Amino acid sequence: MCGIVGYIGKNKRAKNVVINGLERLEYRGYDSAGIAFSNDNEIVIQKEEGRISNLKNNIDFNKKSNIAIGHTRWATHGVPSKDNAHPHKCNKITIVHNGIIENYIELKEELKKLGYTFNSETDTEVACALLDYLYKDKKNINLAIKEFQKLTKGSYAIGILCDDDLDSLYAIKKNSPLIIGVNDNENYIASDVPAILDFTNKYITLEDGEFAKITPYNVHVYDSFDEVVKEIKQFEGSIEDINKNGYEHYMAKEINEQPEVFKKMATIYIDSSSDNIISNMPDLSNYKSITIVACGSAMHAGLIGKNLIEEYGDIPVNVEIASEFRYKKLFINKDSLVIAISQSGETADTLEAIKIAKEKGCDTLAIVNVNGSSISRVVSKVLYTKAGPEIAVATTKAYSAQTTLLSFIAYSLAKNSNDKNKLSEISSFLNDLNKLPIQMREILDNEKYYKEIADHISKNNDIFFIGRGIDYALCMEGSLKLKEISYIHSEAYAAGELKHGTISLIDKGTPVIGIVTDKKIADKTISNIKEVKSRGANVIYITTDELSKNGDFYDIKITIPKTNALLQPLLTILPLQLISYHVAKNRNCDIDKPKNLAKSVTVE
Ligand code: GLU
Repeated sequence: MCGIVGYIGKNKRAKNVVINGLERLEYRGYDSAGIAFSNDNEIVIQKEEGRISNLKNNIDFNKKSNIAIGHTRWATHGVPSKDNAHPHKCNKITIVHNGIIENYIELKEELKKLGYTFNSETDTEVACALLDYLYKDKKNINLAIKEFQKLTKGSYAIGILCDDDLDSLYAIKKNSPLIIGVNDNENYIASDVPAILDFTNKYITLEDGEFAKITPYNVHVYDSFDEVVKEIKQFEGSIEDINKNGYEHYMAKEINEQPEVFKKMATIYIDSSSDNIISNMPDLSNYKSITIVACGSAMHAGLIGKNLIEEYGDIPVNVEIASEFRYKKLFINKDSLVIAISQSGETADTLEAIKIAKEKGCDTLAIVNVNGSSISRVVSKVLYTKAGPEIAVATTKAYSAQTTLLSFIAYSLAKNSNDKNKLSEISSFLNDLNKLPIQMREILDNEKYYKEIADHISKNNDIFFIGRGIDYALCMEGSLKLKEISYIHSEAYAAGELKHGTISLIDKGTPVIGIVTDKKIADKTISNIKEVKSRGANVIYITTDELSKNGDFYDIKITIPKTNALLQPLLTILPLQLISYHVAKNRNCDIDKPKNLAKSVTVE
């Protein structure tokens, strides 16, 4: 969500570095962009609504500047507009801000009484005025920042320029991500490492409550009392990981990376040499219940996990939307494990949910993609999904990597059970696991077929996905994928529930995607598919080669290879991702940056 980039240094033109960094963060989603830089010791601010390209048109890149802060805004307070765009400047203080200042209304009233006036509707302008007031009062920017931290509630990552000290860049953080990139004679701030990866892969993570004074030669980080020594980390990935590598969209690239991601995760997490024991996996069999907290697609991965862990691990699993979990009565205790799932590891609701679980005395486990992210630092145990940087807003490879880990967890539980049926069902797991990347590739290489299917449904306004059990969980993800990038209204329904209301929406030609991959309930779902077919639906029937049936209950059939039930969702999701991608392409949508959406949702 939103992007912050800052640069101070002797080697490069600050404006160019900051704009380049903002472009690298475009994937996070935004509605306006702006930059502040110093020109002969005077701050110049330029901002525009819309894409960074609008902003670039008005910037003179030939002029030198050695310090700049830039921002892509994802509006939370006030409409997307030039006035509301960041940076905001108040007297000698200029800031860019990611997050929400929750007590901004009270602060604004106080500041108005002190004579401050406001030109925007944002909470950020209030933060800027407060900092200005405190700076005037304390006559010392460090003391002003410390006081600011005490007076503000909410979440923020803020980059600060002070007119009296343009040889330093200041940064503070609370509940919103911010890293400091380090290099010789120059340093950076950014919301995420990809923003600076063109220039350096060394960085420092700022913790909540810390603030930094950054010069071209030094980075000083302070907690509320003292200077703290920070570890300089090195980013594992490379610039290749954040390029499109010949694909038209990041989403296409990331869909196609899934077999490799799976292979990598199997190598890391499955230790077939030592009696087929899964390595690095905590023993979950002692927990009486598991609660999964997550949002969006990560929550849908959680639903797959619920189906697999309950079926194969015999542990009851609740899946809770993190933003709901935070505010409801909870029935968790020290016998419960709470699992947080998040690609970025920065999802604000999930982060707060897992903190609550910790307060309740529960053990906590995170399934996250980004090393060292906030969620990974809060929990007692982390399992990394190893999907590499995911740039497209609509997740594909991170979702399947989350599903992979949950499948491995279910496998490890089943392996330790005494249930003979279960043990026989999973006996082929390792064999099936080795074949899976090839089966995934086969589906992905058949892309032309999915494009043709997409051509059939691209012009429709409503689409339904139906399935039962684990197939219903897949329907939810397939439906979300389609609606988020193609803007077609789409609903996922438990197949048996359709006739309790929603079937009235099925008309002649309404596309219904019916998923049937679970043998136990295949016939039941097919009955439900027949119900919509007889009401005129245009049915796309997705099934496995084992369960495939012929008949007049579908218009198009997609047959995918059968694999171990623990791994099947990783194949079933692929046609759904490819269809969504091609529908969005047919409709000329901005596939990697869908409107109104952000990649990493760092606000509540
Ligand atoms: N709350 C601020 C605003 O609406 C910051 C939003 C953001 O994180 O981009 O301007």
